[in-house]
Amino acid sequence: MTMTSGPLSAAPLDVLFPGAVLADLERIRQAAGTVDAACASGPVVWQWSLDHAVFPGAEAPGVPEILLAEIPLYDADSDWLGLEFDVEWTEDGTLNVCVAVGVACWCEVNHGTHYVDSFNLPAGGRTSLGDAFEAAASKLIGWFAGPRDPEWWRNRAALPSPGVG
Ligand SMILES: [Zn+2]
Repeated sequence: MTMTSGPLSAAPLDVLFPGAVLADLERIRQAAGTVDAACASGPVVWQWSLDHAVFPGAEAPGVPEILLAEIPLYDADSDWLGLEFDVEWTEDGTLNVCVAVGVACWCEVNHGTHYVDSFNLPAGGRTSLGDAFEAAASKLIGWFAGPRDPEWWRNRAALPSPGVG
């Protein structure tokens, strides 16, 4: 699978989302612009996969991600906190827009990332892709204003702290 990265303005949204109307693609661009404007670390770097523009089927390995961004909020001393923004296929071939807060794991068994808050909105029916993307963008922007201390998020989720245990 090949991922291409760059600013959202470089992503071929019409190819990535062949089922979306132009107005939805424009709303995605606008919403991504509001995320860029709110992001203190500068414009967001997006990644996209043309291989996943069409649903690859439920038997395909992993989550078929079409468009995604990873935005670091904190990264020091092997500890980190970051946000993720994904547009992906669910197992039944529905487009899902997801944003999540990920934090470093300090459990005895290393789980890698713990997702301590998330928001999922499937697109389809009354919720257009533009609706879902805008709602996810505004949820993500809310997190920019929230705590940037990984420990705050781990405490909230009752997860182990670094150096404990
Ligand atoms: Zn863990």
